[in-house]
Amino acid sequence: MIRKALFPGSFDPLTNGHLDTINRSATLFDHVFVAVSTNTAKKNLFDVNEKIELIQLAINHLDNVSVIEHTDGLTVDLAKKVGADVLIRGLRNAEDFEYEMNIAAMNKIQNPDIETIILMASQQHRFLSSSLIKEVSFFGGDISKLVPPDVDRAIREKYSVLKLEK
Ligand code: ADP
Repeated sequence: MIRKALFPGSFDPLTNGHLDTINRSATLFDHVFVAVSTNTAKKNLFDVNEKIELIQLAINHLDNVSVIEHTDGLTVDLAKKVGADVLIRGLRNAEDFEYEMNIAAMNKIQNPDIETIILMASQQHRFLSSSLIKEVSFFGGDISKLVPPDVDRAIREKYSVLKLEK
């Protein structure tokens, strides 16, 4: 039996924490779909195509991972559509726990056949979030050890354009 998993998220942008979760998921499942949501309450710095491209560049070494767009509809419906019966999420701290527990419970009600598997964030990535990365980078901080190289470049480009436009 082929086990497929779906890792949904905003990935605005991908961090080394997300990438670590993707790498580890790729060893646990035959195929992993990274699903980039377009429909999020969070204000996004990158559009969905930019996010997808940045993830693709970072997962080049993994032949059992692909990136898809999650435009609208339920996450469990997207999982079903691509043949995944597991949702992957990451957990960094107690705050994530409350949030992830609610999402997992709701997804289970929507489709009891789909299981959520939560991977604990690796020790070195527990403090890492896309929003913190954006904030530090906006103020000129060095994020090069915290995100893949193409993400580092893309954020710096994005902010230099945005600052020029002001
Ligand atoms: P969402 O808006 O769906 O929470 P995110 O891109 O913020 O999207 O996160 C996607 C998933 O990755 C979430 O389950 C989140 O807890 C997890 N995650 C975020 N940052 C890290 C990290 N540093 N290490 C491990 N998992 C993480």
